[in-house]
Amino acid sequence: MTATMQINSSLAIITIDNPPVNGLGHATRSAIAECLKGAEANPEVIAVLLTGSAKAFSGGADIKEFGTEKTFAQPSLPVLIEQMDAYTKPIVAVINGVCMGGGLELALACHYRVAASGVQIALPEVKLGLLPGAGGTQRLPRLLAMETCVSMISSGQIVLSDQLALSTAQSTTQSTALSTLFDVYEPDPQNLLTRAQDFARDIAAVRPIPRVRDRAANAPIKSDLFSTARSDLMKKSKHFPAPFSCIDALEASLTQTFDEGIKTERAIFQRLLQSPESSALRHIFMAERAAGKIAGVDANTPLRNIKSVAVIGAGTMGAGIAMNFANVGIPVQILDLQAASLEKGLERIRINYQSSVSKGKLTPAQCEQRCALIVGVDHYAAIAQADLVIEAVFEDMQVKQSVFEQLDQVMKTGAILASNTSTLDLNQIARFTKRPQDVIGLHFFSPANVMELLEIVRGEQTAADVLATCSALAKKIKKTAVVAGVCDGFIGNRMLEQYTKQAAFLLEEGCTPQQVDHAIEAFGFAMGPFRMSDLAGNDISWAIRKLRLAANPHAVYSKLGDLLCEQGRFGQKTQAGWYDYQANDRTAHSSDLVNQLIKQYAQSQGIVQRPISDEEIVQRLVLALANEGRKILRDGIAARASDIDIVYLKGYGFPLHRGGPMFYADHLGWDKVDSLLLQFQQGHQGGTWTL
Ligand code: NAD
Repeated sequence: MTATMQINSSLAIITIDNPPVNGLGHATRSAIAECLKGAEANPEVIAVLLTGSAKAFSGGADIKEFGTEKTFAQPSLPVLIEQMDAYTKPIVAVINGVCMGGGLELALACHYRVAASGVQIALPEVKLGLLPGAGGTQRLPRLLAMETCVSMISSGQIVLSDQLALSTAQSTTQSTALSTLFDVYEPDPQNLLTRAQDFARDIAAVRPIPRVRDRAANAPIKSDLFSTARSDLMKKSKHFPAPFSCIDALEASLTQTFDEGIKTERAIFQRLLQSPESSALRHIFMAERAAGKIAGVDANTPLRNIKSVAVIGAGTMGAGIAMNFANVGIPVQILDLQAASLEKGLERIRINYQSSVSKGKLTPAQCEQRCALIVGVDHYAAIAQADLVIEAVFEDMQVKQSVFEQLDQVMKTGAILASNTSTLDLNQIARFTKRPQDVIGLHFFSPANVMELLEIVRGEQTAADVLATCSALAKKIKKTAVVAGVCDGFIGNRMLEQYTKQAAFLLEEGCTPQQVDHAIEAFGFAMGPFRMSDLAGNDISWAIRKLRLAANPHAVYSKLGDLLCEQGRFGQKTQAGWYDYQANDRTAHSSDLVNQLIKQYAQSQGIVQRPISDEEIVQRLVLALANEGRKILRDGIAARASDIDIVYLKGYGFPLHRGGPMFYADHLGWDKVDSLLLQFQQGHQGGTWTL
């Protein structure tokens, strides 16, 4: 049953019942339409109440039907709404809980709205690169101030019913035209239905039945509202057409009749639906959900209880990792063998929290609470009872061995033993213990308290409940987790290696660092590879290259980065890297010295430099990622291509509107990818490409 009807003293109460959020799938829309027909035909019924079961009115489109033809099967939402527009009895929306997207559009098509307090209200379609396509852009401005509509629809943000009721009350003093989203606002949710029934009886005889479509849209209070909104969007969302289209549709509510406005809205909706940006955002939406599904782990997998955490190593990563848990109220112990490092780590944590206080993101009391949850310790016995321990010591197998052997000795049975290693073999680390089933990789990204991505590394013996627990914990600490198998670099860094290699080859073949950076930044990356490397420190990748070269002396790579570091050009911290910098200024200035060094190196290698187009730069960099991604899939390191996209989007700044490297290659077509790679190979562009 997806909607039920009950007649109560001349009132028909239709309850949308499609858990968890009463999504408006095809069956639900049909059931609502049938109930409405039944109530209209029943002479006993004087008015209809439309509400939702449990905690939602309706969350909008049904995710299960997302992208399938059922989304548009009849009655579509616009057709159901037309039925309501032609209805001969008053319909009152009783907004008992979450009211979003198509759910809000349904409520807007009702003749009256009674809302409870604390209800989340939103038109979030813009987040999927769309706009509300069932009248939302035309009806909302007939009930709310245009300023509020612009902000709600172009951002998709959730607003609480209380705020809207409040703005309703305030706006009556400015202009009566702005005051009518809710006809009744009920602070006590328990009273909602009774209050709605009383209201329905009061208005049952009112004729003509007031329809939102018959009202005039509210003109902006500030005449430059639309132009200001557009110029703000140019700063925030220049790669996305949808927020701009939302403004266009809202403006149409003022300049066109209701029916024309609806046609405009629908035409824009159809156009956006076909746009690559919306396609990318919908892919990401589905990819985020898919990433949570782990082979061998299902909803019945038991979770281990994580009430306390210990972190080994109070360095850059350890300190950031600890903050994640304190932020959600989980006590953390940090162990470091160096008293000075421990002190420095704890100090860094305090400075970070204090900076949040100065930005107004935390209260001083919250800062104190969080700092108090993180305590330093200097011996292993102190952490024995922790439910989860995360090692973040030096990236050296011998150091990891000594840490894991000690953890194996002291940690209580059932504790999860995690490593934050970036490059080392997790299976080997697990073998340092007698409980490899409890060992897992939790690869945080720097800064660990900020970056959203977490790679969960599954060892060959990692137990299903350990994976399930870490996946649930990732959600709790607000990370997007992707499961990776064991290999050097896991998913993200393994791909990054190919990308940075290509970037350096491009220099050898004729580009300058700024040409490469500009091209990929124009593609949408926030920062190109050379500006990024200067920010992170060129010495870090230099050290990694040395390790890799020791393991594989025949590795093919460009020596340019090494030459740069040999001159002490480590990046921003030395005011010299791929670019020149001035003191306390992050602006990258082209460096004649570096450009000369590149030319000389190319000559010494017998490379004839040539002009390289921006198109080639982008293709080589992005296809280097996608090609490695394909191998990662083939090797079973990632479970699905969309997981790889999530890693790159959340951890490496891949532009959202491009949907991720695998999505990009999918759309280009893998045949085309292969022919381009072959072309690069034959043209000696970018070293050896292996497919
Ligand atoms: P770091 O040098 O900043 O910190 C390491 C800390 O571990 C130091 O405080 C040191 O005193 C302590 N330590 C060393 N040996 C120890 C031992 N036996 N017992 C207890 N403490 C010990 O290093 P980091 O950058 O925080 O990296 C830590 C780990 O995280 C490494 O495995 C690294 O590969 C991984 N990682 C680093 C980054 C990054 O960007 N820095 C990103 C992801 C993962």
